[in-house]
Amino acid sequence: MTTLLISQPLGVEHQNPQGHPERAERLQAVAGALADEHFADLVRRDAESTDLAIAEIVHSKEVLNILREVRPSQGIGQIDSDTFVSSGSFEAASSAVGGALQALEAVILGEVDNGFCAIRPPGHHAERDRSMGFCLVNTIAIVAREAQRKHGAERVAIVDFDVHHGNGTQDIFANDPTVFYGSSHQMPLFPGTGAIDETGVGNICNAPLSPYTDGVKMREAYEDRILPALDRFAPDLILVSAGFDAERRDPLAQLNWVAEDFAWVTGKLVDMAARHCDNRLVSLLEGGYDLGGLAAGVSAHVAVLHNGIMGKLD
Ligand SMILES: [Zn+2]
Repeated sequence: MTTLLISQPLGVEHQNPQGHPERAERLQAVAGALADEHFADLVRRDAESTDLAIAEIVHSKEVLNILREVRPSQGIGQIDSDTFVSSGSFEAASSAVGGALQALEAVILGEVDNGFCAIRPPGHHAERDRSMGFCLVNTIAIVAREAQRKHGAERVAIVDFDVHHGNGTQDIFANDPTVFYGSSHQMPLFPGTGAIDETGVGNICNAPLSPYTDGVKMREAYEDRILPALDRFAPDLILVSAGFDAERRDPLAQLNWVAEDFAWVTGKLVDMAARHCDNRLVSLLEGGYDLGGLAAGVSAHVAVLHNGIMGKLD
């Protein structure tokens, strides 16, 4: 497969307070992992910024208005107890969205088979009417809508293996049968949504996982719930909210996934993309807060996107 890697030089411009787990070093950890010779054949591009006004295809005007109000000329402003806006956050968010849209376009045009975007801030907690949970705008939701609006995709699937439920993505698409949202996540855990009985208009498939469970339970959840639902949905594009905070070392959650588990779930999604979408799959980085766990998870994920197998990684 030809796999595009979008890197984001402006990603470091979004700053959270000292000690916050969502930090610029995360992108450096990912870049370091993907600098390995194992990944020499990736097609590499830097994210180009886009006008953040495009966020209004999925958000109410209130969201950008509040971000503008809170953004300081220097230092760091606060949205809620764990979500912050720094003077460079708009530049970071604009390039995160821009980079993700570049990957979408490259995949839709067939320049590459699939793509991974190493971007921040994350997006899947941002609801239609509010930023929250480290997320300013919902990048993956914007990509899904733009795939439909600009590129004519009819049925877009979003699969989210971040350890947290993507309440924002669910909120935005809960009444839209043309977008499927399937999520595995630890429960109980922030943000508290993602119960099995939250099914939208039949387009939402939640698979909550108990704390301290490992990849065995995760694989059951995908085999029994998410993958059959995804197969029935028959998407023409698969988007992935790729968070690596289910990795056993992560400080924000208590699941015990290892690199092979990220490889396994990625392989299943690659297979599904081959079956329904002519391989079209775009993956966006969401969470992952232990730098070693993040590097290991991303390496496994991108190796399978590119080669179909994890292979031998250091
Ligand atoms: Zn997360």
